[in-house]
Amino acid sequence: MDNQNPTDWLKRQINEVVEELELSPSVYQILKNPKHCITVSITLERDDGSVETYTGYRSVHSNLLGPGKGGIRFHKDVNEQEVIALSMWMTLKTSILKLPFGGAKGGITVDPRELSRKELQQLSRQYIQDIEPVIGPQKDIPAPDVNTDGRVMGWMMDEFYKLRGRNIPGFITGKPPVVGGSEGRVEATGRGVVINILEAMKKLDMDPQQSSVAIQGFGNVGSVTAATLYEKGVKVVAASDIDALVTDPNGLNVPEMVKYVEANGSLKGYADDKNPDDLFDVECDVFIPSALENQITEETAPKIKAKIVAEAANGPTTEKGDEILNENGVFVIPDILCNAGGVMVSAFEWMQNDSHDHWAEKVVNERLEKDMSSAFLEVYDMRNHIDKSMRHAAYYLAVKRLGDAMIVRGWIDEER
Ligand code: NAD
Repeated sequence: MDNQNPTDWLKRQINEVVEELELSPSVYQILKNPKHCITVSITLERDDGSVETYTGYRSVHSNLLGPGKGGIRFHKDVNEQEVIALSMWMTLKTSILKLPFGGAKGGITVDPRELSRKELQQLSRQYIQDIEPVIGPQKDIPAPDVNTDGRVMGWMMDEFYKLRGRNIPGFITGKPPVVGGSEGRVEATGRGVVINILEAMKKLDMDPQQSSVAIQGFGNVGSVTAATLYEKGVKVVAASDIDALVTDPNGLNVPEMVKYVEANGSLKGYADDKNPDDLFDVECDVFIPSALENQITEETAPKIKAKIVAEAANGPTTEKGDEILNENGVFVIPDILCNAGGVMVSAFEWMQNDSHDHWAEKVVNERLEKDMSSAFLEVYDMRNHIDKSMRHAAYYLAVKRLGDAMIVRGWIDEER
């Protein structure tokens, strides 16, 4: 398996673009490492009275365009290099979207399924206590990611309130609306993925009603993407999660599956369970990885027959996997564009908190649609202009903006 360290390829892509754009080599020097990445040892008292420690991280890759911004992941495989890579992708994402943020990410190495609800709350609170010195609404703003949601954000917000002695809702996004969260934030990443897919279909002359999709991952992003496509009449022929794969060439009943997962925690037992790895063999027009990194690899990429791969997850494709998709003429919507709807609505939430405002969901969705579509079109036009992949075009735009900002802020000299 080519399960590489994602930062290696990421850094090479940034350097390549810096050279092509003839930017100062200092741009690469500044972008190749995070500003900081802290490691904390989190102490948790388990329900049985025993004490365990868990390792947590928070990386701010860049604060060039604004405070750090990025989610918090709870997963057994979380490690420093993964968190750093995720924070680098956030820097590129916020740059493409022209959002007033830098890039950040955090995580705890833990399997949350092994903790009780009480333990999970305690771990979330303790993590905030441990990273408190480096976070804040003008410093670094967390949000949900894999295995964290509005409930976890609510606990974290409450802990930060206790530590600072006042309510600071803008320090975290993805909160439930009742405590200052934005309407439409839960659905934002999936909706953004669908906006990108529909724009791509227009460019490739594909009829959504005649198209089929297969989705890997049925959590927040995967399930909302599936449900939104279903509403729009796109046939969802396969969906998988860590436990199961369900398929139906005539189209799955996505609303029923969403209810099933809400009640049972996963797709296991919804239908005849198949091996989730067999998803790659399913015939479809659009393949949507929405689980974790390193899924489309040298081994799995050749199996994908879809016309479009929409990267809803961060870093789902390895370098070798990407080469194979490109050779096979697959239109790849890169992660730093495809899943940016979440951070876009997080920005809306932060703006609402700052102005003590509350936008209606219609307002949030209209602005998401408008800004996401124009970001897609900007990357698409750049792709045609430089005659490279969508991924390359996205890096081009992101790095160019970062380089321009470095000059304006006097971080680098324009002449060199
Ligand atoms: P989640 O925890 O809600 O869901 C993850 C899903 O992936 C679950 O259904 C899980 O069972 C499944 N999964 C894990 N390993 C799998 C495997 N090997 N095969 C098939 N399925 C597997 O997480 P999420 O918030 O939906 O995030 C998914 C991806 O989207 C991550 O890469 C995350 O970084 C990215 N993302 C999330 C957001 C957000 O707002 N939540 C925003 C941008 C990007």
